Amino acid sequence: MDRIIIKTGDITKEKVCAIVNAANSSLMGGGGVDGAIHRAGGPKILEACEQVRQESYPEGLPTGESVATNAGNLPSNYVIHTVGPIYHQCGEDCSDLLASCYRKSLELAHRLGCKDVAFPAISTGIYGYPKDKAAIIAYEVVSHFLNENKNMQVHFVFHNNSDRDLFIKAIEGVS
Ligand code: ADP
Repeated sequence: MDRIIIKTGDITKEKVCAIVNAANSSLMGGGGVDGAIHRAGGPKILEACEQVRQESYPEGLPTGESVATNAGNLPSNYVIHTVGPIYHQCGEDCSDLLASCYRKSLELAHRLGCKDVAFPAISTGIYGYPKDKAAIIAYEVVSHFLNENKNMQVHFVFHNNSDRDLFIKAIEGVS
């Protein structure tokens, strides 16, 4: 699929319409890619997250859901915050919840008029999702969506080459 770009890099530097954040349900920032996005993007993103939290999700954003905010000082137009499943807690629902993160983020980006979206490897860091299993889910949801939305493009951005190579190997059987 030529509208999928698989690369190594820092997602905060991606010049796309929307970057996706592997957030936690509090939307108040955290470690990993979440911390990197808030550090690089500055306080405007956190302010917007606080507002979303107060107005729409006082109990926190549920796992598998996505919301959009401004992107502060980042080169993208939007940050889409999604809450991935915690692997040792999600049981039989893990794959559906992870798929939902990708699907809802893509749908939201589409509604915002975005033609390109960058994803990190949601849930595969602190949340412990096995990287090979997560790769197949991410790739399947994204390919399906892109087949139905021919004017869109997706970047998968990995923090290091070994994660990128693992992703490429994992999807070999399905791509
Ligand atoms: P989660 O809590 O959903 O597991 P993490 O942020 O811990 O989220 O990890 C998700 C993935 O994001 C991991 O594979 C991690 O290596 C990667 N990551 C961390 N920082 C960045 C970054 N700046 N750009 C791209 N990917 C990143």
